[in-house]
Amino acid sequence: MSEIATNIAVKLIQRESVTPADGGCQNYLASLLAPLGFVRTEVDAGDVTNSIYTRMGELGGTLAFAGHTDVVPTGPVDKWAHAPFSGDILDGILYGRGAQDMKGAIACWVAAVANLCADYTPLPTIQLLITSDEEGESIDGTIRIIEHMQAKGVLPDAAIVGEPSCSEKVGDTIRRGRRGAVQVRAVFHGKQGHSAYPQDADNAIHHAAPALARIAAIDWGSPADGFPPTSCQITNVNGGTGATNVIPGLCEAVIDIRYNPGNNFDGIKAMIEAACSDCDVTLAFEHAAMAFSTADGPFLDLVCDSIKAVTGIDTVRDTGGGTSDGRFLAAAGVPVAELGTTNSTIHQVGEQVAVDELATLTAIYTDIIKNFEG
Ligand SMILES: [Zn+2]
Repeated sequence: MSEIATNIAVKLIQRESVTPADGGCQNYLASLLAPLGFVRTEVDAGDVTNSIYTRMGELGGTLAFAGHTDVVPTGPVDKWAHAPFSGDILDGILYGRGAQDMKGAIACWVAAVANLCADYTPLPTIQLLITSDEEGESIDGTIRIIEHMQAKGVLPDAAIVGEPSCSEKVGDTIRRGRRGAVQVRAVFHGKQGHSAYPQDADNAIHHAAPALARIAAIDWGSPADGFPPTSCQITNVNGGTGATNVIPGLCEAVIDIRYNPGNNFDGIKAMIEAACSDCDVTLAFEHAAMAFSTADGPFLDLVCDSIKAVTGIDTVRDTGGGTSDGRFLAAAGVPVAELGTTNSTIHQVGEQVAVDELATLTAIYTDIIKNFEG
């Protein structure tokens, strides 16, 4: 069982696919999935290769696996003991960019389905939602797949996202939600002048400082269940010409807000605007990622039960980390659990995964698919 997953992971790693390139990964996946009864729907957008692979089930319900074939750049290639696109295996460790994030998990899911099909196990409808635009802007990736599925009325009943969710061992952590992100650029306006003639000037920093203090002191309320509190960090403040005797006419600040689902973009915007209401300020808001959360219920229980059955581990249902494509599925109302390999070397020089992990993850995915009831 593990051999199939490992072989697929090696072949995916050997296909160089730095965002947004796909490097032939999807054609390779299609060649594996077609004999298993999957039909490929291409939803390409811009430079990005997106595919929905669907295998109609013998049973009711639809379970999706969402993943990305793109990887982040390698960094200095000479620092890699094994070339980043070699897929070398040594002493039970598979080396290469994407081993953990997340070609390994894609390989495990395909291997799980292949094994179940080989056993003639009746299955629910299974979809693989694969993009080559997750590590970049994520503008033409999974979101386009979800739009297409919404238009066709083929959204799944639940989805596993194969992001590397685990810390020490496969199965120790799943993510059932993520915080959202809002970035604000604030430009405070005054009037430049000579510091000995303050009556002829208006100090922009004197407007910015109290407003930024009010922003830093905003009470964001208590966090949604299981989430860390909303964090609002002023990450940049720039004002002044460098001269000691010039009153600055402009002061610019950047604010980075990571919010839990107890807050939302409109509410955050209103609170920042209120804190700046007495200033001449230009505020530019970017909703970089929407927060999402999958409630405790049968789907998360199934995932945790499968992990327990295979590994004996009591899984942590976590909400930490940055953003992921799970947000697009959750926004469409699909329950999402992120479950992949460990994440100890993601985006690092020398990314690697233990072959044993791939075997364990394949077994967990197999159990989830077998026991899924839509
Ligand atoms: Zn990833």
